[in-house]
Amino acid sequence: MGEELVLPLGSHTSGRICALLTCSELESLLLKNNCSIAICSDSLTAIKAVLAHKPTTGLVADTVTALKTLATLNSVRLIWVPGHCGIAGNEKLNTLAKQASTSCFIGPEPSIGISVFTIRSSISPWAFREQNRLWHESSGCRQAEYSLHRPDYSQARFAPNLARKDLRILVGLLTGHVDLNRHLCIMGIRQDAGCPLCQEEDDTTVHLIAQCSASMLLRKDNHEGFTLSLDTLSDIHWLLLLRFANVSKRFHRP
Ligand SMILES: [Zn+2]
Repeated sequence: MGEELVLPLGSHTSGRICALLTCSELESLLLKNNCSIAICSDSLTAIKAVLAHKPTTGLVADTVTALKTLATLNSVRLIWVPGHCGIAGNEKLNTLAKQASTSCFIGPEPSIGISVFTIRSSISPWAFREQNRLWHESSGCRQAEYSLHRPDYSQARFAPNLARKDLRILVGLLTGHVDLNRHLCIMGIRQDAGCPLCQEEDDTTVHLIAQCSASMLLRKDNHEGFTLSLDTLSDIHWLLLLRFANVSKRFHRP
């Protein structure tokens, strides 16, 4: 064709598929009739994407539509060429692509449709950072912060598979809102907030799981330590927390 186009696309665009779309929509090609048109690309991924049975993104769907339109009156072939091996047209393309990527895109981004994968891979780390920030900036939830230093997706995947009874106990252990004297006292159900086993401190989940002297042997069996440092509470797998809660018999309801 001899035409050279440099189009800055911003930071979220699949350049190779966009190049196929741009080629398919060239006015000089659309005016042709009964011609053999070969569009060359060094991206096998882009070619496979437009040849797939079902388009995965809006950009791919637009490209397929444009190619079909072009192929209505012409014979259109997509040809893969190996990249970076001295093919003149491909080397020229790489130079132009580099020029486009260093040029500033003017306007709101994304400039054209982006894939679901791109959206997910951008949102997930952002959501994790925001959750983490909000969790550390929150002034409440003191007991829960001992058990959860940060959002933990692997533990979170474990919880929904639990039976309702175990899930209730686990949430209680993590938040402190559980049938232990300190919480029952706050609720006005008990008068004495002390631990019924050792009578040394308030009966809280942190005390029961990490420090209660009357539960040292149970703790040794379950967590391999007579006492636990508060810093290590968030490292305990929730399965072990539940097992400890069960053997302590502190959460059995009639
Ligand atoms: Zn105790």
